[in-house]
Amino acid sequence: MTDHHTATEPTVLALPDRSGWLGWLAERGEAQLVETSRLVDDLKAEPPADARAVLRIWNEAQTALGNAASMASLISEVHPEPEVRERAEKLVQDAQKLDTDLGLDTQLYAVLADLDASGLDPDATRVLERTLRDFRRSGVDRDEATRARLRELSEQAILLSQEFSKNIREDVRSIRVRPEQLVGMPQDWIEAHPVGDDGLVTVTTDYPDVIPFRTFAHDAAARRELVTRFLTIAWPANDAVLQQLFAVRREHAALLGYATWADYDAEVKMIRTGGAIEQFIDRITALSGERAERDKAVLLERLRQDRPDATDIDTADVTYYAELVRKEQHAVDAQLVRTYFPFEAVRQGLLDVTGRLFGLEWQAVARAEARTWHEDVATYDVTRDGERIGRIHLDLHPRDGKYKHAAQFDLVRGVRGVQLPEGVLVCNFARGLMEHDEVVTLFHEFGHLVHHVLGGEQEWVRFSGVATEWDFVEAPSQMLEEWAWDAAVLAAFAHDAAGETIPADLVAAMREAQDFGKGYDARTQMFYAALSYDVHIHQTPNLTARLRELMARYSVFPYIEDTHMQCAFGHLDGYGSAYYTYMWSLVIAKDLFSAFDRTDLFDPEVARRYRDRVLAQGGRRDAADLVADFLGRPYTFDAYAAWLAE
Ligand SMILES: [Zn+2]
Repeated sequence: MTDHHTATEPTVLALPDRSGWLGWLAERGEAQLVETSRLVDDLKAEPPADARAVLRIWNEAQTALGNAASMASLISEVHPEPEVRERAEKLVQDAQKLDTDLGLDTQLYAVLADLDASGLDPDATRVLERTLRDFRRSGVDRDEATRARLRELSEQAILLSQEFSKNIREDVRSIRVRPEQLVGMPQDWIEAHPVGDDGLVTVTTDYPDVIPFRTFAHDAAARRELVTRFLTIAWPANDAVLQQLFAVRREHAALLGYATWADYDAEVKMIRTGGAIEQFIDRITALSGERAERDKAVLLERLRQDRPDATDIDTADVTYYAELVRKEQHAVDAQLVRTYFPFEAVRQGLLDVTGRLFGLEWQAVARAEARTWHEDVATYDVTRDGERIGRIHLDLHPRDGKYKHAAQFDLVRGVRGVQLPEGVLVCNFARGLMEHDEVVTLFHEFGHLVHHVLGGEQEWVRFSGVATEWDFVEAPSQMLEEWAWDAAVLAAFAHDAAGETIPADLVAAMREAQDFGKGYDARTQMFYAALSYDVHIHQTPNLTARLRELMARYSVFPYIEDTHMQCAFGHLDGYGSAYYTYMWSLVIAKDLFSAFDRTDLFDPEVARRYRDRVLAQGGRRDAADLVADFLGRPYTFDAYAAWLAE
């Protein structure tokens, strides 16, 4: 069989005009699903004798299905018009339903399971192995009643997941405060929040409000009120949704013969078993304990200067007092720091830094040509050695109905000779000055985007882009954060309104200040990880009560009465029992970073080796092997432990 794709140059996706989204989404989405079904029907009716030819057709089917799923899930979270988002949600459901159907298709499974793999190259062999594993994990080899029930459960899970996410997205809460309660807030923030006719100012639970407010607002009661609202987003609606979602997952894992959802989920990750998650959480908890208590004592002592009778400190005060400690004891004033980070300069700086590091160029695409779903979106073609290898879209400011967090979304997964990778950053940054934390977040998310594009030149869509085990995917992003903490890197773009470059001693102080709190941050992360694991292995009648217990065991900060953060903890859906992956990836990120020369982060040699041996490989090999190939040895906890002790 000849490869009919190599003759044409792979290209980027042509997006519709402003008014054409609804039709385009329906038409293209439908066409991709029909194409998927047609390819699979052909494969079942008349499978080629050659194993590779079968896998190629399967690859085309997976590509078409992925195309529908990627654009649908992106558009459902970002399009400004509710009816387009709703249409996209419907397409997400259709694509996932088809995916579920294929995974349970016994005839299709038979075609693939019967292949003679003896003549296949290593990549094709891996595709086949992974595909058959996916099929077994879908339950294709179970009896008919079990398969039917698994299909029902998958459909329920999709609906529950959408409801969960929608409840968070659409439940923006707010407080109304008097202008004098804004003391401490940055001037540009105050100007962007005019006083209403009734003399009050609205402060919402969206990130550009809640993050600066809990960091800077002097008024402790107003802070507590806003943080409490923030921690009750989507309560009580999502509590019931979560109970149903966990029940669906429990039954799903049990039907497939796994003791828990965590065991089922971990099987395809670096960590391999649910029990290993528990061990990992305990290991990090022990490693970080002393440091966490030491830093917390500093916070509490500072709080007592304002409130002498305070016996403990909770998260309504932690961010504010951590900021005060950083300012007073480490000479870092976040409001001074942010004057060096105007949004436009940061965005350009990020592109310059990463372009230099990875040998890439980002060429701005005019809005009229790129089109996209909103005028805030900035589009760039990615070129390497003069050749276009992909396209990125940066959608970085908040608006109504848009995804509330920061994440990278696939628009198109790259397939060599067929389609170029396209990725989208969806964030919620203010338009003026950025907090340094936000700069770090931007570098982090951009790490996923670079991985998606560089890993997007694959023959097999199964391995395209961010296609490694899921507990590895944060590592490249967490490592890229290091560049946002380096004085020489920041000096390339961080200038204030007078054109002054951010001083190196300020960056050094920022790093020192950042190190303050890393112990208790690790413990907070372990609390989240324990929550995500625990609710997936035990039936939990009262989620808030269990959250309280786990918080007492793992976090060093006490629970705030009448809050229910599980309801807006989006990762309970997306990461399931695997929230530990953030910390697991960090352990590996610190190890990866140990290969770089800290005195010259622009040195391209190590960066290119990392680009080629880790990022560009996508999912072609196990993550542990990619890391070992880059480091020249297996990964260890040493660099992480050393960093924690620093
Ligand atoms: Zn990430």
